[in-house]
Amino acid sequence: MSIHLASRLDRVKPSITLAVSQKAADMRAQGVDIISFGAGEPDFETPTHIKDAAIEGLSQGASKYPAVGGITKLRAAICATTEAVHGFQVSPDQVLVSAGAKHSLFNLFLALLNPGDEVIVPAPYWVSYPEMVRLVGAEAVCLKAHPEKGFALDMDELRAAINDKTRAIVLNSPSNPTGAIYSRELLQNIADLCVEKDILVIADDIYRQLVYGDGEYVSIASLGEEIAKRTILIDGVSKSYAMTGWRIGWTVGPKEVIKGMTKIQGQSTSGANHLAQIAATEALVGPQGCVGEMRDAFDARRKRMVELLNGIDGVRCQEPKGAFYAFPDVSSFIGKSGASGDTMTDDVVLAGYLVEKGVALVPGSGFGCPGFVRLSYASSMEDIDEGLARMKAALEELE
Ligand code: PMP
Ligand code: GLU
Repeated sequence: MSIHLASRLDRVKPSITLAVSQKAADMRAQGVDIISFGAGEPDFETPTHIKDAAIEGLSQGASKYPAVGGITKLRAAICATTEAVHGFQVSPDQVLVSAGAKHSLFNLFLALLNPGDEVIVPAPYWVSYPEMVRLVGAEAVCLKAHPEKGFALDMDELRAAINDKTRAIVLNSPSNPTGAIYSRELLQNIADLCVEKDILVIADDIYRQLVYGDGEYVSIASLGEEIAKRTILIDGVSKSYAMTGWRIGWTVGPKEVIKGMTKIQGQSTSGANHLAQIAATEALVGPQGCVGEMRDAFDARRKRMVELLNGIDGVRCQEPKGAFYAFPDVSSFIGKSGASGDTMTDDVVLAGYLVEKGVALVPGSGFGCPGFVRLSYASSMEDIDEGLARMKAALEELE
């Protein structure tokens, strides 16, 4: 028997971030001593008051289908958060709750894009943006951000990338994988250009609460009425509230976009898990001290990781200002060989070599940035010390 699969599968690559995390988990299950910096996932437990709200929710009818677009309390909390963070009012029909921000983005691309439409995706990018755009039959136009300028976009290059088919640009600040934050000035320039060219901004601000040192999160939607009208906000509870497994994210945007996405969600998942929505509501309206505590812990780990990375000869790591990733340049090791004679032909081979040495990380090629690797510092200080010691020893063996 031969089974024919859809040709759209040929357009899309599997998620390398999830693949690396899975490989490390499998190796650990087989008893291999491996330290994983692969997953972009807080190592903290979901705060107790959030879990308690979910337990309480079970006795209050949370075993029934929720409204397709999200439960009333959560949508109200998202409206209030949007006003507080982005500075403008939205109504519940401008909000759609989905099964994680990843699902929000997928619904959005499905609702927004026709075959042939183009979306500008600055690189390095989070692995899933271009793949999702391709999965719905549109084209991802990857525009290189400049590592030597703190991974900033060049406005002339951005202008040149826009044409009649351009529908939107995806902005992710703070960024996965670089930890870079767009400056107010750059965001203002991007906003002016998007208004001039009448294209949408998809602002994936899922790391907005994880900003360190002198880093400042600026919401592009707050930069004026015209850009606010053209901005679609993507956010969620996974990163700031250590709630990756609950799978709750949301979209805030123009009513017609949300209506289209809701139609798709109504014919696919029927909505996000009811109980998890109750927990997410508590995350937004409950005490916020937990966010600051986790952020402080990430900050200390960030400093340690960057210091240890820059202590390795040949590694250059810029200071990430947000999210929980370090994204060092390891290109000086490409072309070198290990003791067994295997040559590091690229960052993928280098990442494979490091896994064998007991450290899992994600090659930069997966983010459209060869010659770099991504390490998540959402792991314990002990793991950071031990993992970086292994990495240093392994890299110093290369000749
Ligand atoms: N956007 C970015 C930039 C991310 O790193 C992630 C992490 N998975 C997501 C969206 C999706 O998060 P989730 O689906 O867990 O809400
Ligand atoms: N966003 C996280 C990461 O980049 C989780 C995995 C994923 O969804 O890609 O590692």
